Amino acid sequence: MPVVQEMENTIIRMMEDLQRALQKPPSERRWGMVIDLTKCVACDACTVSCKAENKTPPGVNYTVVIKEEVGTYPNVREAFLPRPCMHCDNPPCVDVCPVSATWQNEEGVVVVDYDACIGCRYCMTACPYGARNFDFGEWYTEDTPKLAPYETAPTFEYSERRVRSNHESPVGNVRKCHFCLHRVREGLLPACINDCIGRARYFGDLTDPDSLVSELLRERYSFRLKEELGTQPKVFYLS
Ligand code: SF4
Ligand code: SF4
Repeated sequence: MPVVQEMENTIIRMMEDLQRALQKPPSERRWGMVIDLTKCVACDACTVSCKAENKTPPGVNYTVVIKEEVGTYPNVREAFLPRPCMHCDNPPCVDVCPVSATWQNEEGVVVVDYDACIGCRYCMTACPYGARNFDFGEWYTEDTPKLAPYETAPTFEYSERRVRSNHESPVGNVRKCHFCLHRVREGLLPACINDCIGRARYFGDLTDPDSLVSELLRERYSFRLKEELGTQPKVFYLS
């Protein structure tokens, strides 16, 4: 099958999985992500796509691609590791929050209430994956004659419309990947899944045995990061 057609079919399959999951009560679905390390080409399309979707400012990156050189000269190669929030089933970032501004929702997604967050950053310290970021209120086009429209456009994270300004949430809050819940609720895949050039990222309902993510986890060897910590991530890697 031509590569482009295969990639399109994968997207259609995941969107059908999504529709099936959305028909279930929220507490009966469990969103998860699978990342195929053999397909990632480190193009950073996922990082850019996420930034465009969530209008994240300097220093706030919900998903990054970690690049590392492995081996000894002359037998060296680069290894790539895309790293969003793991949406841990046992999330150490949640218990440390003094104002209960972050929790795991009924679909298993670890979320943040920007209005409740006091910006103490305890959760950032507790996260063993470095998945949380603090919004210091910076702009890419600061000190230019005018802030660029793409920076001041509203975001729709958590299905709330927010226009970022210097002193209002989410400025002064901790921010992180939320599996693009605002898109998923509308039947759309998370932005990073949609725009992955290598078709290395997959998303779906882990409780549905017929979903593509479940099928991949059944058929391929998978692992999770820092499993020894007992955090039970819902992001799985194929190698
Ligand atoms: S920074 Fe916000 S979400 Fe994190 S622990 Fe503090 S109040 Fe809670
Ligand atoms: S990866 Fe970090 S921020 Fe995400 S749920 Fe786990 S501990 Fe919390």
